[in-house]
Amino acid sequence: MVAEQLRPHGVTDERVLQAMASVPREEFLAPRMRRHAYEDRALAIECGQTISQPLVVALMTQAASPQPDEIALEVGTGSGYAAAVLSRLCRRVITIEREPALAEHASETLLRLGFDNIEVAVRDGSLGWPAEAPYNVILVAAAAREVPQALIDQLADGGRMVIPVATSADEPQDLRLYARHGTDVIYRSLFPVLFVPLRTG
Ligand code: SAH
Repeated sequence: MVAEQLRPHGVTDERVLQAMASVPREEFLAPRMRRHAYEDRALAIECGQTISQPLVVALMTQAASPQPDEIALEVGTGSGYAAAVLSRLCRRVITIEREPALAEHASETLLRLGFDNIEVAVRDGSLGWPAEAPYNVILVAAAAREVPQALIDQLADGGRMVIPVATSADEPQDLRLYARHGTDVIYRSLFPVLFVPLRTG
């Protein structure tokens, strides 16, 4: 994965490559899907959802540049895979999933694999998790029509948020990197992506 899928496609941060190499993606899949674990594509998990493509997980993580002393929020736990990668690169990860069955399954997987700095919460992640805010890093794994204000509000000064934005129904989504400097929040577009929708409410 690291040599063939990630390095040649722009993943250059050695810490991110190491984190990707250290998380066994097959453990986050149902047994019948495991033989596909090292194909560079999104795969089906429960509840009609997907585990993201490894290259996209790596590029999102690299863009957000998580540091060892930082706290991160992920919206859209899914299988727990991206949270696991992120947790290798920062102090603590809070990850939010709206489907209770997925959250429970992801918690079990993460516990079984010994990840002890990740907390899984069940709720609408577009509201963020104010109790632990602000966050240095926010990764959103579902496409928003508009960037939720709560997430912008919960971004720390100097913080980075990576989020796919669905600007129109028939265009690819725009993966954006938001950065806060004091009261200013600016973004730049990274690349087009295809995520499941962020379902609010
Ligand atoms: N990061 C995941 C991939 C997640 S797919 C992984 O590595 O496996 C996107 C997930 O976002 C789905 O599980 C979906 O249920 C969840 N989701 C969609 N809208 C949400 C919302 N408003 N709050 C929290 N989770 C949401």
